[in-house]
Amino acid sequence: MKGLFADVYIVLLGPPGAGKGTQAQRIAVATKLVHISTGDMFRENVKNQTELGKLANDYMSRGELVPDEVTIEMLLERISRDDARAGAMFDGFPRNVVQAEALDAALAREGAKVDFALLISVRDEELVARLGGRWICRNCGKLYHERNDPPKRAGVCDACGGELYQREDDRPEVVQSRLEKQKPPAALIEHYRKAHVLKEIDGEQSLDAVTAALLEAIR
Ligand code: ADP
Ligand code: ADP
Ligand code: ZN
Repeated sequence: MKGLFADVYIVLLGPPGAGKGTQAQRIAVATKLVHISTGDMFRENVKNQTELGKLANDYMSRGELVPDEVTIEMLLERISRDDARAGAMFDGFPRNVVQAEALDAALAREGAKVDFALLISVRDEELVARLGGRWICRNCGKLYHERNDPPKRAGVCDACGGELYQREDDRPEVVQSRLEKQKPPAALIEHYRKAHVLKEIDGEQSLDAVTAALLEAIR
């Protein structure tokens, strides 16, 4: 059965900690679009100690981007699967123009395109506070913040009872590097502006207000 958002492709852009993952989880529920997070895919590979995971971890632990070649190959394999045929929401991909062009080309082969590029903007001071307080469920991946969006019981996932953990790369030293190296480059934003699909959302509103603004942007 196709939902209201069938065949819609959305990319979420924004600096580390802007709220892409949290909002993607919420929008996936609201729209039934599959949520594709390259960060989650890399972490899964690290956990399973695959070759890809070992390679990616070297970059992730330094707060650097994993090389495009590897990232694009992983993403293309992911979108070739059946569940991504009828639309998807990308969180953390693309991070630069090379990746954006690879996505455009892959979607074009299926007669599709990026329909919405939603840029979530948040100032650096707030990003540092968000990343420092981020907790994640080891089991289902649900995101929390110790002050802004706490679980009912400290350390325990509301959704599945799983154990919450803090990411290695959310330590202050790595956060600094991520904020220097991983903000969406101007050329990437321009790429989507030129395609007339870019919308900017104020990410410093409440979680619910950001969700509402995003849903309004894709209505
Ligand atoms: P963030 O909290 O910054 O949104 P992610 O979970 O999206 O972090 O990504 C975690 C790490 O995985 C990044 O720091 C980077 O090393 C790697 N990564 C994720 N997506 C990409 C991508 N599209 N290109 C290159 N590296 C990526
Ligand atoms: P990203 O995927 O862009 O790196 P996340 O969705 O993981 O960002 O959010 C980073 C942290 O900030 C999480 O701990 C999340 O709970 C919190 N957060 C996200 N959006 C908001 C918001 N609008 N207000 C307050 N905290 C937020
Ligand atoms: Zn959970």
